[in-house]
Amino acid sequence: MPGGVSSPVRAFKSVNGDPIVFDRVKGPYAWDIDGNRFIDYVGSWGPAICGHSHPEVIASLQEALEKGTSFGAPCELENKLAEMVIEAVPSVEMVRFVNSGTEACMAVLRLMRAFTGRDKLIKFEGCYHGHADMFLVKAGSGVATLGLPDSPGVPRSTTSNTLTAPFNDLEAVKELFAENPDAISGVILEPIVGNAGFIPPEPGFLEGLRELTKENGALLVFDEVMTGFRISYGGAQKRFGVTPDLTTMGKVIGGGLPVGAYGGRKEIMSMVAPAGPVYQAGTLSGNPLAMTAGIKTLEILKQEGTYERLENMTTKLINGICDSAKQSGLAITGSSISGMFGFYLCEGPVRNFEEAKQADSDYFGRLHRAMLQKGIYLAPSAFEAGFTSLAHSEDDIDMTLQAFNECFNELSS
Ligand SMILES: *Cc1c(COP(=O)(O)O)cnc(C)c1O
Repeated sequence: MPGGVSSPVRAFKSVNGDPIVFDRVKGPYAWDIDGNRFIDYVGSWGPAICGHSHPEVIASLQEALEKGTSFGAPCELENKLAEMVIEAVPSVEMVRFVNSGTEACMAVLRLMRAFTGRDKLIKFEGCYHGHADMFLVKAGSGVATLGLPDSPGVPRSTTSNTLTAPFNDLEAVKELFAENPDAISGVILEPIVGNAGFIPPEPGFLEGLRELTKENGALLVFDEVMTGFRISYGGAQKRFGVTPDLTTMGKVIGGGLPVGAYGGRKEIMSMVAPAGPVYQAGTLSGNPLAMTAGIKTLEILKQEGTYERLENMTTKLINGICDSAKQSGLAITGSSISGMFGFYLCEGPVRNFEEAKQADSDYFGRLHRAMLQKGIYLAPSAFEAGFTSLAHSEDDIDMTLQAFNECFNELSS
């Protein structure tokens, strides 16, 4: 296996270590094959928002398993999850299930182009939209972590249609529209960047994009693969009150099984086959196990107070981390929204990927290794957001903060 992993973000290349092989996960914890326990802030990169192996999710999966693993035909569960997504996510009137976030983003781009009859797209530096050709330009996630150039094997003719701008920079987007009249199908973004560390949108940025796309006859697409059902029950769009034309999802809505989805205005989604001519298909799409885990996860999230709990816990965590670092004389800037957080070892502010790159990645590597020694599993990259779950207890957070405090002291002395 290249690099010993099935996905590059799992490798410890940027923190100078070897990936840890997990044996099992439960609640906020992961155990490696040597029996060491870690408090986990990766949460399978987002899906484990209720905690790993939530008893209710496991029980409903066991029940679903008895009825078979894949139908290759419609199942009621798809309709149920579709209804839940449509009810919760403001932009979604119609939805198509796929098997990953990558697939959802690929499909949504084809749809953007079909609907507008235009080929170009605007994305932001440091944003990650899966590994499809058209998005591997100044991409975030593992591409940023490994410091890779835009990937070999991607034809220039493909990426010549991909225009990029710095995140939080409305003027740059305005210029791209002016330079490419009637050629841009739409703007795609992570409404909160989680694949270049953690970068929230500045006030007015999302609203400005909504206006600019409208003025230019282009579509606005929120890639909520990471933020969907994590930032609020209706995603970042609900929290910020800005409704895009199309939305991609994944991670949380699969409850730990492989799922992606894309949806949006009926007028656009009706173009997807077989309702319309835009082709997209999948052998295992909407399979009963993934739908079951997704439905149960959303049911748990919908309960009163879940997002408040996530938000309070995560705020306490990030404030504690930043206070500790500052006491050790370190430059740090960090923030969180709901159950998502991130910090950069630099003065800040960090408003885009260029500013994120100023952070001390060497120190981050040392911090990462020291935290592992103390049983805390952070994403092995300075360019990935952290995730909390409903299973993290007050004690877990306190233990984590104590570990940060000790590590900052040890590393700075
Ligand atoms: C994880 C992620 C993807 C890709 O999803 P996969 O399921 O890994 O293919 C796309 N966009 C965003 C914002 C993501 O965080």
